[in-house]
Amino acid sequence: MLKKKIKQLLIGTNNKGKLKEIRDLLPNNIKTFPTSKFNLKSPRETGKTFKENSLIKSQYFSKKTNLICLADDSGLEIDILNKKPGIFSARWAGKKLNFNKAIQKVYKALDKKDKNWRNKKINARFVCALSISDLNKRIACVVGKVDGYISKKPKGKNGFGYDPIFIPKNKIKTFGEMKPFQKYKLDHRSDAFKKLRKFL
Ligand code: IMP
Repeated sequence: MLKKKIKQLLIGTNNKGKLKEIRDLLPNNIKTFPTSKFNLKSPRETGKTFKENSLIKSQYFSKKTNLICLADDSGLEIDILNKKPGIFSARWAGKKLNFNKAIQKVYKALDKKDKNWRNKKINARFVCALSISDLNKRIACVVGKVDGYISKKPKGKNGFGYDPIFIPKNKIKTFGEMKPFQKYKLDHRSDAFKKLRKFL
C-alpha cells in the first residue's frame, strides 16, 4: 500500500463520458491528466473479468506515461442474457462507439430470448472495476455494483452508454433521466470509488 496519498493521476480512458464522471468523483486536490494529452490509444482488453481489464489498462497507460494511472473497466450485465454484454459492453457499440446501436442490440437479444420480456422485470446491474497502477505495480483494484432493471424503451439524454435503458432498483427514472449528482449517489462507479478512498 502507498504510504503517501496520491497527488496526481492519469485517467486511463479514452471514453469522454467516463473521463467526466471519474473527474467529478475524484477529490479536487488531485491533479488529473487525460490520455488525450499523450495521444494514446487504448490497449486490447484481453482479460476475462472487469478487474483484469482495468489492471491491463492502468498498467499500460502508466508505463506509457510514467504517471500513476487510474483506469476503469465497466459494463452492463443482464441476467437473462447470461450477463451479456458484460465485459463486451463497449464492443457492442462497434468501433465508433455508437450506443444507439448497442442499445438496439440489447433489445434485439431480449426479443430473441423472450418475446414477452417487456411485461417482466429484467434484472441487470452495472459493474465497475477501478485499478490504480504505478508502472507494473498494482496499488489498488476494487469493484463496485448497482442493481436494477432494463427499461422497456430508452429514456433520457443524460450520462452516456447504456444509461437510457437502466433503471436502478427502487427508482422510476433511468440513469439517462437523472441529473449527474443523482446518478453518482447510486451508481457502480461511486460504489467502487468509496472503496478507493484510503488511497485518494
Ligand atoms: P470499457 O470499460 O471501456 O470497456 O467500456 C465500458 C462500457 O460499459 C462503456 O463504453 C459503456 O457502454 C458501458 N458503461 C460503463 N459504465 C457505464 C455507465 O455508468 N453508464 C452507461 N454505460 C456504462
